Amino acid sequence: MKRVIIFFYIFTVIVFPGFSSFALVQENAFERARHTMVTEQIERRGITDARLLEALRTVPREEFVPENLREWAYADTPLPIGYGQTISQPYIVALMTEKLALQGGEKVLEVGTGSGYQAAILHALGCTVYTVEIIKRLAQLAEGKLKTLGYTVTVRWGDGYFGWEEYAPFDAIIVTCSVDHIPPPLLAQLKVGGRMVLPVGPPWSIQSLWLVKKTEEGIATEDLGAVQFVPLTRNVREE
Ligand code: SAH
Repeated sequence: MKRVIIFFYIFTVIVFPGFSSFALVQENAFERARHTMVTEQIERRGITDARLLEALRTVPREEFVPENLREWAYADTPLPIGYGQTISQPYIVALMTEKLALQGGEKVLEVGTGSGYQAAILHALGCTVYTVEIIKRLAQLAEGKLKTLGYTVTVRWGDGYFGWEEYAPFDAIIVTCSVDHIPPPLLAQLKVGGRMVLPVGPPWSIQSLWLVKKTEEGIATEDLGAVQFVPLTRNVREE
């Protein structure tokens, strides 16, 4: 009996609080890293949208990177997420999102769900988010992760080149894989007055990030600078 009491004492008074306070310390460390990331990588490079900065301070990026890379979640770099794909560098997520000029309440399409991080940021900005991913396993993983964390985002496995006709037209479209031309179905599914951000250029090389505004007269494009994205493929992957 005495042994049992000692065991319980050790477990409840020493071991259990030890574990939970370790988890708490780790969570605080991520939160600190997240705030430092926003100040040093995002604000310092000129992003000023207050709602976006707040979203970036809130969404736990460490949840969207592979377990073994969590300590790098807030580094100033893209990270591998498996299947040859990457989660974009935090600043690029911020830049692309800011250029969509979202006020909250917009219907947004993302092509290239990947980890689900960009979709979570869009949801945190108060948008209704639809996202398409061509690799089945990534679509499933992102859908599960977003749901667990409480981000209500609609995920579909398929070729995002064709957009998502069922929910079109969209106020904004973000393409997070590179294309060598603007996919006509995406332009067709963008509202007049809407904005699209996408990396345009050759695959596995340097591309230009374009902001495309759709007007009554046609489109106006602005070059936002050089970027490097994984390419949009047309190969719907089962695994
Ligand atoms: N936005 C993501 C980063 C995605 S990387 C994030 O926040 O993590 C680009 C993604 O585009 C990859 O997951 C890749 O599989 C996907 N992709 C490539 N071609 C695609 C296509 N035709 N349709 C949809 N997704 C595509």
